[in-house]
Amino acid sequence: MAAKVIDGKKVAEEIRTEIRAHTGRLAGRGIVPGLAVILVGDDPASLSYVTGKEKACRENGLRSFEHRLPASVSESELLSLVRACNIDPDVHGILVQLPLPDHIDEKKVIATIVPDKDVDGFTPVNIGRLVLDDPCYLPCTPAGVVELIKRSGVPTNGAHAVIVGRSNIVGRPLMNLLVRRSINATVTICHTGTKNLAELCQGADILISCVGKAGLITGDMIKSGACVIDVGVNEIEDKSHPRGHRLVGDVDYEAAVERAGWITPVPGGVGPMTITMLLQNTVQAAERGCGAD
Ligand code: NAP
Repeated sequence: MAAKVIDGKKVAEEIRTEIRAHTGRLAGRGIVPGLAVILVGDDPASLSYVTGKEKACRENGLRSFEHRLPASVSESELLSLVRACNIDPDVHGILVQLPLPDHIDEKKVIATIVPDKDVDGFTPVNIGRLVLDDPCYLPCTPAGVVELIKRSGVPTNGAHAVIVGRSNIVGRPLMNLLVRRSINATVTICHTGTKNLAELCQGADILISCVGKAGLITGDMIKSGACVIDVGVNEIEDKSHPRGHRLVGDVDYEAAVERAGWITPVPGGVGPMTITMLLQNTVQAAERGCGAD
């Protein structure tokens, strides 16, 4: 039987409805959750991401403060802007769009964000809290993956979850989230040093690929009835497509949909959840700031 397709847009809209209820209540108290969005340079993909984030803020009762800096900006100027946002009472969350130009120390910039406004969940303090299972802002893409799994009714207690990819923004935080008692999965994390990738994937009740390689996960790597979450986003050439190219994930979707129990499509799976979780974190930051959480 074909897999149940997890509709990320639908789940994201459900959560955005919940977010609008929160922003509505905050508005009644004269508070508008504010997100400072800092973009350095003019990389088209980054520009498109921040434009999407700003639009989502407007549509859901949040305010975005846009800071566009030239690629030539100095590290100290950028740090000064982050510090100004840290103490601005109208700013509840700060997002620095990555990657930053080579002359800027990305880790230093992220570590300068005060943890209470770190709505991307990337500061060392937040990551530490995540590992310790303490309350924190959850990194947005991993948090979105977990919401998709939970809201789709996928059993997680004692499930074997295999994550392919160990980046700081997706794979590692996801590993920490899935081993929490509230999820209670047994987690295996794979990377380029993994010797028996296919065999490990075949044992997964929940298989999450966050690599960025089209076709990496083939149909025969999927256990029958497994939940397959495809975080990867890859552009492939497709002459039949009006633009000559299209987006796909890491998973061979056509083969996987025949074996899996649940599957996320690309686009329309994990993608819509990432911005939604950013909005949710920013609203939480505003609520914490006024003691309403
Ligand atoms: P990344 O930093 O490049 O990390 C990729 C990971 O994949 C690394 O850990 C790498 O292993 C591993 N890897 C590469 N080739 C592999 C192979 N053949 N077998 C096993 N593991 C392999 O990427 P990222 O930033 O985490 O992003 C991953 C993908 O998710 C990208 O396609 C990105 O566009 C997408 N993404 C989507 C969203 C969304 O909202 N939908 C958000 C973030 C990212 P090593 O550590 O050994 O190098």
